[in-house]
Amino acid sequence: MYKVSTISGLQNLIKDANIKLKKKWGQNFLVDGNILKKIAAHSGNDQNSYVVEIGPGAGALTQELASLHKGVLAIDIDTSLQPVLNQVLSAYENVQFVFQDVLKTDIEAELIKAFRLTEVPHYTVCANIPYNITTPIIFKLLEQSTNLQTTILMMQKEVAGRILAKPGSKEYGLLTLTVAYHAEVQFLMNVSANCFYPRPQVDSTVIKILPLPDKKVLVRDHDQFMNLLKFSFQKRRKTMLNITTAFFACDKIKAENIFDQIGISSQRRPETLTLEEYASIADAFYDEKSLR
Ligand code: SAM
Repeated sequence: MYKVSTISGLQNLIKDANIKLKKKWGQNFLVDGNILKKIAAHSGNDQNSYVVEIGPGAGALTQELASLHKGVLAIDIDTSLQPVLNQVLSAYENVQFVFQDVLKTDIEAELIKAFRLTEVPHYTVCANIPYNITTPIIFKLLEQSTNLQTTILMMQKEVAGRILAKPGSKEYGLLTLTVAYHAEVQFLMNVSANCFYPRPQVDSTVIKILPLPDKKVLVRDHDQFMNLLKFSFQKRRKTMLNITTAFFACDKIKAENIFDQIGISSQRRPETLTLEEYASIADAFYDEKSLR
């Protein structure tokens, strides 16, 4: 049996199974047993719970998750990993695989099907995700899940930095605010590039994303609010006065009045505003527009 949580074990498996690792799918596998255990431990230890792993690769994290949960649904795009995963996970009866693109997968429907359930269970996502699709994966999980309890994700350190960024920093932006709108986020650990095979160019960070039952701020018009955020960060160097007059098609005097009323300077730049301040701006302009 191959010990896929070590470099030599993984290398032997890849050689014997004649697997070609694919850069386009971010196939850098974690080969540090302690870190694998720590990541899995953050997903909880509950023999009644289900966990979804995106990108099981050679199955090292999958093994850890299988020993902590009732069922593991592992979704990987690479069908050539199927024989390898069947072999590595042969001792675990509680692991089910889906071989398709996670972005095109109805995760909750697959959970029901895989474990013959009658409804979507509470579940956790725990994964070392393909770094090139980190943002679409996070948006999918936050926008499409109905019963997702928590998410433990390993990603490129710089992307985690953008999610965890504070207002005023250069990392702060649309990703920070969109995630903060839907969830609480927490830093868990950094992982050096040396802990992977093949060694990637970048270091990694594991974070916890805890979806909120309600959005962090209540706004009158969700779509308009999201569009204001996107528009603002496309014009990062402009003041909020310029941004709002263009976005809401409003004249400068009216806009200045609105900023005065809500106590936010119209001269601030997009990266300095909190989520709550954006909500306050969006609602104040929404009200002004509906009175027009
Ligand atoms: N879980 C393993 C580990 O920690 O060592 C492998 C993680 S590796 C960074 C990312 C995995 O995601 C690869 O196995 C890759 O085939 C898979 N993957 C890449 N794109 C995917 C997609 N769109 N849908 C599902 N899996 C994908």
